[in-house]
Amino acid sequence: MSYAGSNPGPFDPSDPFGPPRPRRSPLRRPLTVTLAALVPGALLGWLAYEALGGTGSGGADGPGAGAGAAPSVLSSPANGADSGHGADGADGAGGVSGDGKTGVGTSTASASAPAGSGATSLQGRVVVIDPGHNPTNYRHTADINRKVDIGTNLKECDTTGTSTNSGYSEAEFTLDVAHRLRALLQQQGATVRLTQDADRPYGPCVDERARIGNAAHADAVVSIHADGAGAGQRGFHVILPGTVHEGAADTRAIVAPSKDLGKLIAGDFSRATGTSPSNYVGDGTGLVTREDLGGLNLSTVPKVFIECGNMRDTKDAALLTSGAWRQKAAQGISEGIVSFLHGS
Ligand code: ZN
Repeated sequence: MSYAGSNPGPFDPSDPFGPPRPRRSPLRRPLTVTLAALVPGALLGWLAYEALGGTGSGGADGPGAGAGAAPSVLSSPANGADSGHGADGADGAGGVSGDGKTGVGTSTASASAPAGSGATSLQGRVVVIDPGHNPTNYRHTADINRKVDIGTNLKECDTTGTSTNSGYSEAEFTLDVAHRLRALLQQQGATVRLTQDADRPYGPCVDERARIGNAAHADAVVSIHADGAGAGQRGFHVILPGTVHEGAADTRAIVAPSKDLGKLIAGDFSRATGTSPSNYVGDGTGLVTREDLGGLNLSTVPKVFIECGNMRDTKDAALLTSGAWRQKAAQGISEGIVSFLHGS
């Protein structure tokens, strides 16, 4: 099935929260009243997105992942990374499988923390933020092209990432959002570690990015990215680990908690930023499951990627290059993480 020329499904605000999460405690049930308050927020976000022309052409005129090689939810990973800029192959919009069973909505009222939460409510919790790529990867092509073992196969150590048409790089974007996200989580008392902070010439390689989260015994890991898809392809999506058990990769224990984490982040990201789920992958859910990303395959702790928008679409790029919008993005991701940690 091609997404080219198809409009995204409507972001149904009437059922954004899906089935109750099993990990939800009785303590949180009275908070469901807050969920109703979030629904208008999600609706407003969608309406705002629509007003901005969110239902674009579906990438019919886009390069790479656009008309000629429109990503399909049924396509194989071999078709992925059409843009050639994908971090760990994540940014190419291909090789994905839509998760039609789960909506973007969340089952937790992120704005309402359980009793006892405060500035130190995440004391002792560890969050690893993985800013995709590295601002100077492009100077080290031989190093980043070196193959590393991701369990299922060999893959490039890292990639340069994409950029907006005006030259704002994905690596710059991911670091900025990571810094904002770190500050927000530290305000909650969390221990936060970044996999890189432009403090090394290139990388880390995708396998090392995973190992950093594992070694930190992170309660949650989020890899920050922005996509390099075709013009007209818009919106965010969260990438969840698929079930992989091969070589050094064994995601069986993290698939379920990572899905919880991803759904919470997707819902809060949509509300905080006022943007809609991707109109080119994920079938309107904002959620995509992949088994070809080393950063997910090799993780032993709950982990997701988020592609915050499409840098190659001018409307999305206008958001991604706005510091105010990036703060909203960090806020949404933070709220999703906080909700996940409070529920786990
Ligand atoms: Zn990326």
